[in-house]
Amino acid sequence: MNLNTPVEELSGIGKTYAKKLQSLGIAKVEDFIFYFPRRYEDYSNITSIVNAKPGETVTLRGGVWQIANRKARNRRMTITEAIISDGTGTMKITWFNQPFLKTSIKVGDEIVVAGRVELNFNQIQMASPSWEKFSDDLKHSGRIVPVYPETEGVTSKWLRYQIKPILKLVYNIKDYLPENVKEKYELADLPNALRAIHFPNNRLDLAEAKKRLGFDELFPILLSGVKQKIGMTKEKANPINFNETVAKEFVDSLPFTLTNAQKKVSWEIIKDLKKDYPANRLIQGDVGSGKTIVAAFAMYLVVKDNCQAIMMVPTEILARQHFASLCKIFEPFGIGVGLVTGKEALLKCQMSNVKCQNDNSKIKREELLKLIKNGEVDILVGTHSLISPDIQFKNLALAIVDEQHRFGVDQRQALRKESGIARVGPLQGVFPHFLSMTATPIPRSLQLTIFGDLDVSVIDELPPGRQQVTTKIVESKDRQLAYEFIEKQLSSSRQCFVICPLIEESEKLDLKTATEEYKNLSENIFPKFKVGLLHGKMKPAEKEQIMNDFSLGNLNILVSTSVIEVGVDIPNAVVMVIEGAERFGLAQLHQFRGRVGRGADKSYCFLFTNTNLDLDTGTSKRLKMLAQSQDGFKLAEADFEIRGPGEFLGKRQHGWSDFKIARFTDLKFIGKVREAAEWYLSLDPEIKASPKLKERVEKINYARE
Ligand code: ADP
Ligand code: MG
Repeated sequence: MNLNTPVEELSGIGKTYAKKLQSLGIAKVEDFIFYFPRRYEDYSNITSIVNAKPGETVTLRGGVWQIANRKARNRRMTITEAIISDGTGTMKITWFNQPFLKTSIKVGDEIVVAGRVELNFNQIQMASPSWEKFSDDLKHSGRIVPVYPETEGVTSKWLRYQIKPILKLVYNIKDYLPENVKEKYELADLPNALRAIHFPNNRLDLAEAKKRLGFDELFPILLSGVKQKIGMTKEKANPINFNETVAKEFVDSLPFTLTNAQKKVSWEIIKDLKKDYPANRLIQGDVGSGKTIVAAFAMYLVVKDNCQAIMMVPTEILARQHFASLCKIFEPFGIGVGLVTGKEALLKCQMSNVKCQNDNSKIKREELLKLIKNGEVDILVGTHSLISPDIQFKNLALAIVDEQHRFGVDQRQALRKESGIARVGPLQGVFPHFLSMTATPIPRSLQLTIFGDLDVSVIDELPPGRQQVTTKIVESKDRQLAYEFIEKQLSSSRQCFVICPLIEESEKLDLKTATEEYKNLSENIFPKFKVGLLHGKMKPAEKEQIMNDFSLGNLNILVSTSVIEVGVDIPNAVVMVIEGAERFGLAQLHQFRGRVGRGADKSYCFLFTNTNLDLDTGTSKRLKMLAQSQDGFKLAEADFEIRGPGEFLGKRQHGWSDFKIARFTDLKFIGKVREAAEWYLSLDPEIKASPKLKERVEKINYARE
């Protein structure tokens, strides 16, 4: 037997078990070694019967005096009862529904049992203990015992039995971690850690194994992030001059004063832009914290230094809205703003030297692209259609991604790398500074690891006068009351959003479709009011028409699928109704809620749900948390903890979800590993000392790109 032996060649496994093991990802002997326990039972307290106290978890060794099966009173269950004695006393043991134990354990056998001591009618006993025949190689008792993730027919007991003898092979596994890292960070050898993670000698032994193997999971990711960051400082970017008079002009043109948080973050960006290597900064700010203006400020500085800027957003509606607000912001300065989506191209004619065909500011795509290439248009907004080889710039210096979590890594990278590089001319090979913005904060643990190459700024303050949105969970029985309340709001000419989770009929999920809901609201519930419908399958022109109607107040209610989620700004909308609220994640619900409370009037968010709130399920917890907190950062952390990193990151970004040992809640440890990565790369930037480690890091780079 060696590490590569297929498991079916091991005695006692065979084809049937091999198949089951395959579903656990175990095909060869080595896979057993890397099949880590899920948790442990500490049976290391070996004692005698006379000393066993109720409530304690102990291991006892004794001779079997009696063993017999009987039926439980309801006759559905077989109970096996045994009496053991160790010379200091006797103890009753019971097992349930394992009648075969009567044949496995015989009177006179020396057995070891491990479990919790209980007191029953003044007698101590043990129920369903782990047991094995006594030997000097205990696997299931008398020590800290591993509990594995199990599957049909593959129990922890069986796995222990298989894995224990294999562990002598761990010493054939080569440790790939450089000695100096192990020494400086006091890490156990890999073989030792692999042995101890299965059968630790004691708690300290286990803790050291976890430390080493957790380090192994994180270290390549952090090396990759830190390396990437170092790599970026070697790239070229166009440094943007900061001119105080110019900056003041911009700030003075605004109808409000910037919040301190906006000023702080703007200043961080100004410092970034001055560098001759590309910035890579994430701006986190809760819904409504005013990220757009900060982005516009950066764009303005870039344009005033004779360069161009682009902004990519996830939906066409949002692209059009940003286009409109940027046009307004830049109007006083005569700066041209272009829009490119999949279907259309718009250009606002504020420049005397450029003429559009009509007032609608429509322009042929080719013409717009020409103006961009010539450098006559300085600012371009658009959807992912901005990542297109036919869009070329004269001197692009800044690329911004709004609602960055809605894009995949590849799209963000493409914007930075491909559309960024001027393929011809003097700026060839120069990267734009890169800013991404999100209202869904990335939890600290991920910031330090997966997103380790990012600098992060936080707008941690809302503009003054913002109000809390009163949030209520509405169960089916209270639906009518909520409708009556909404009717009053509509009657005083305020507006209401209704979000529905799905567009297609799906009986199984029992969700109202938006179309159905639209009909129901317009015909049955609010016949006096005008209702509009918006969904992802509409044509852009139709969407725009509906959004326009709603923002002009021609519609009282807008029924929408989740396409509405990001960015839209309608100050007169004061009610947000979310149907099937339990279907959405916390962060997303918070985003929806952020669509209201943008004007002067008191606003409300109703979470319609069929969930039983009396039950303490994750869903009811989630909804209650949203009703209680308006803090997007707190909600995002909670969402992350409830749903786990896999879902948070999406399938694209693996690496993190493969973690078996490292805990993403352990920020201190993650910080330590990050420090180790920085230190190590300062000594061995190309990771030459360990090809295996280098290979692991490169795998992560690949997943990241
Ligand atoms: P988000 O961070 O969610 O993208 P926006 O940039 O859309 O937020 O800003 C929300 C609203 O707040 C906009 O109408 C914007 O004009 C306004 N706003 C931004 N900054 C301020 C400020 N400092 N004072 C008052 N209103 C502001
Ligand atoms: Mg925004």
